[in-house]
Amino acid sequence: MSRFFTSKYSSLTPYTPGEQPKDLEYVKLNTNESPFAPSPSVAKKVEQEANKLMLYSDPECVDLRKKMSKVFGVKSENIIMTNGSDEVLNFAFMAFADQKNPLIFPDITYGFYPVFAELNGIPYQEIPLKSDFSIDINDYLGKNKTIVIANPNAPTGLLLSLEKIEKIVSSNPQNIVIIDEAYIDFGGESAIKLTEKYDNLLVTGTFSKSRSLAGGRLGFGIANEKIINDLNTIKYSTNPYNVNRLTAAAGKAVLDENDYYLNNCKKIIENREFTKLELENLGFEVLNSSANFLFAKSEKIDGETLYKELKKKGVLVRHFEKERIKNYNRITIGTKEQMETLIQKIKEIFKEKQL
Ligand SMILES: *Cc1c(COP(=O)(O)O)cnc(C)c1O
Repeated sequence: MSRFFTSKYSSLTPYTPGEQPKDLEYVKLNTNESPFAPSPSVAKKVEQEANKLMLYSDPECVDLRKKMSKVFGVKSENIIMTNGSDEVLNFAFMAFADQKNPLIFPDITYGFYPVFAELNGIPYQEIPLKSDFSIDINDYLGKNKTIVIANPNAPTGLLLSLEKIEKIVSSNPQNIVIIDEAYIDFGGESAIKLTEKYDNLLVTGTFSKSRSLAGGRLGFGIANEKIINDLNTIKYSTNPYNVNRLTAAAGKAVLDENDYYLNNCKKIIENREFTKLELENLGFEVLNSSANFLFAKSEKIDGETLYKELKKKGVLVRHFEKERIKNYNRITIGTKEQMETLIQKIKEIFKEKQL
């Protein structure tokens, strides 16, 4: 740390992104990216757009929001586009939480929530998940606090029904409820349609997981127009050109071929169910995931050892140090071939260690 770093930030613990190694050709099952390349039209549109890079991007993302509007069935005024959904989450924390409106979220969830809370000086409370890692919605009813819930949750993959989400939203009319739907396309029902009924609901989404655009950085928020206006106040006070030209072009091309991405989701779901069965046959306990990853543990081998042994064999999965989940690994669902490799490598490890 330099001697100039302000005391406001000097105790900040930043988010730790999953490894992005450059040395080896890993089977990369650690950061929940799509194993499928974007549809070919994305490269074409991005290349055409490159000729216009001397001009700033459109801060309003007019064309992009028009296409979003068609795909998601809401009006343009109800949409904000951001640099990944991490950005819309940060904007929302800045806009809707403070000392008077502290945050609550589960103890086991997306690691960025406490980081954004600390960055913005927002007090927060972590509500323990039940022993089976599910959310007890009674913990979130009538709280008068700003609530953020990932649905499906990460890294558990567990889904809350739309009915339960609605109960949480309707019981907290004085506060914003943020539903982070990064993984909703892998088996859940979106809460987007509830944004017409509830003016305190913000649904966030991303092109990083189901839409093969993690490296492009494109996310969005959908809510009542007034909420979107507040988020735009934050956006225009930090980075009006947050969505660059190449990413906007890529995003539009993706939305033009929505069926391709929905079909990829189907394949991921099939591969997920295949992998779950295979892991269970090997004695793993696997949570019931509605996302593009599995959360699994084995009595035979602790989480960290399995992670390290798999890495030696060229397969990357995600291990977390947190006490409650340190025996688990989060395994991203890739192609059928990648998942077969994972299972093969686990069998080898068990054999070598005579487990
Ligand atoms: C991946 C992820 C995000 C955001 O990803 P971006 O790449 O910033 O869009 C948000 N929430 C959860 C729970 C995630 O797993």
